[in-house]
Amino acid sequence: MDFLSRRRMLAATAAGGLLTTSATARTQLADAVPQPQRPGRGGTDPGPRNAVRDRQNADILVPPATDHGSLPNLRFSFSDSHMRLETGGWTRQVTQRELAVATSIAGVNMRLNAGGVREMHWHKASEWSYMLYGTARITAMDASGRYFVDDVAAGDVWFFPSGVPHSIQGLGPDGCEFLLVFDDGNFDEDNTFMIADWFKHTPNEVLGKNFGVPGSLFDHTPEESQRYIFPAPLPGPLSSDKIAGGTPVSKSFSSRLMAQDPIRTASGTMRISDSTVFPVNTTTAAALVEVNPGGLRELHWHPNGDEWLYVIEGQARMGVFAGQGQARTFDLQAGDVGYIPVAMGHYLENTGTGPLRFLETFKSPYFVDFSLDTWMALTPPKLVDAHLDLDPQVMNALRKTKAPVVPT
Ligand code: MN
Ligand code: MN
Repeated sequence: MDFLSRRRMLAATAAGGLLTTSATARTQLADAVPQPQRPGRGGTDPGPRNAVRDRQNADILVPPATDHGSLPNLRFSFSDSHMRLETGGWTRQVTQRELAVATSIAGVNMRLNAGGVREMHWHKASEWSYMLYGTARITAMDASGRYFVDDVAAGDVWFFPSGVPHSIQGLGPDGCEFLLVFDDGNFDEDNTFMIADWFKHTPNEVLGKNFGVPGSLFDHTPEESQRYIFPAPLPGPLSSDKIAGGTPVSKSFSSRLMAQDPIRTASGTMRISDSTVFPVNTTTAAALVEVNPGGLRELHWHPNGDEWLYVIEGQARMGVFAGQGQARTFDLQAGDVGYIPVAMGHYLENTGTGPLRFLETFKSPYFVDFSLDTWMALTPPKLVDAHLDLDPQVMNALRKTKAPVVPT
């Protein structure tokens, strides 16, 4: 039954007394259509309203009593982003234009069908990627003229520094989907330097002179100025794409994040990927966090950049403390982006029944976080107690060793 049907039923019930509002019926209605009220505050929302979104946004509709003040919007869903449909797949983006606060990082979500190619291109921003699904072949060249070609699968990451030219192709049987993270909130995936575009906008005689061949050989450049995301034949095995006579790069542009032994607690895991374990990646630190049902990514903050986070699986509430008495809580689903300005305190709580998996990314060469719990454990207890007047049980439970996901 949709929301309107329920309202009509409720109206009919009120008017004609056709149904008794038993406790069970009231509970079912409350479950179906949450109301913006808690004891002593708020009231029902007679509508108009979007009940689907209200159900997803429990902490926006009925904020925790601890929320206060004016914070900018800190969440945007890829589901609300324009989809660009192309012949070889699709793409959409969440940038500063969608999420105004996100000045330091922008994200792109892309799907390449089997054989689908993201055209050979480069851009000013650096590109960090996490493979969400399937397999892909990626190629690049470094500034010393050494080549790179590799196959990546779900859980792998890649990094292309600013200006490094590259390509991505979906492999069999079903191509790939991935998340791209750029170190510039104003990045625009629709505005990159693409190879066919350059050919199309360079005189044939110049192309001929550049490549040392007759200019007439370039009469067949494709009509469309951009190929962008287009279908192409599936490549052979990786070994067949090694460049004979070329020198491979000395620092790989790809990394196997899931091969890493994670930081593990009783409630989840964290894998960190930054320049200390992935040397070519000098601009985008990231952490892949898994939180079991009921678990919490502990209260913490980061001193080295805004956090741009992406939910891969599950659902969460994200509580952000901005100082000066300001705090706001947001609900996130798989495919949503969260943003936490530098230094603001925050937590993510798994509010679903299954695992929560998300990526924390930062415009920084290294990952760093400060734990509230560990800070308190490493401060003289009497001093801490003078601030917060805590029960001895709290003081005794403090952890001198950081645990990113709790309970431990
Ligand atoms: Mn790119
Ligand atoms: Mn964080």
